[in-house]
Amino acid sequence: MKIVLFGAPGAGKGTQAVRIAQKYSIPHISTGDIFRANMKEKTPIGIIAKTFIDRGQLVPDEATIQIVKERLEKEDCQNGFLLDGFPRTVAQAEALDTFSSVDVVINVEVPLDKLLERITGRRVCPKCRESYHIKFLSGVTTCAKCGTELVQRADDNAETVAERLEVYKKETSPIIDYYAKQGVLITVNGEGDIEDVFNSICEKLG
Ligand SMILES: [Zn+2]
Repeated sequence: MKIVLFGAPGAGKGTQAVRIAQKYSIPHISTGDIFRANMKEKTPIGIIAKTFIDRGQLVPDEATIQIVKERLEKEDCQNGFLLDGFPRTVAQAEALDTFSSVDVVINVEVPLDKLLERITGRRVCPKCRESYHIKFLSGVTTCAKCGTELVQRADDNAETVAERLEVYKKETSPIIDYYAKQGVLITVNGEGDIEDVFNSICEKLG
């Protein structure tokens, strides 16, 4: 199965991606991970990508499309794949159509106020990276794993989050429309817990 996964920041997309890939025995292809690996190995494309990422800019379509194309040509993608973080523009979606088909596009939807609550309530351990939500911490301020004092990430405040979600929506809507017109889009309510959301995805995938 060839799957593209969409979900706003805070919608739990990463967790679902791992589970879907496992269940359907397909590689989870995250463009973020590929870029990080290429930058670490200092490949030509990694060096180009780094100049943009260091400046806080998106890597241009051309480079992004190239690394996804190369990745999808690998042996492990012959029975399908799950794309996470790509396509990010309609131009990327159109390019993808030229070198691979897409069976289904999953959009994990969570209402804006829910996303805000999830992200602004997030607390992370600066030492072991474990993530918590104040709703479940019931006043505890230290990491259950290593005892370190939990912190809120600087960009997890309401104002920045609202801005990030706005940008996400603006960027993603045209791509969602693009796939809706192709008749491959399924929308899943991402409000429940991880297990519920995963079950509704599986149900819809059949
Ligand atoms: Zn910790």
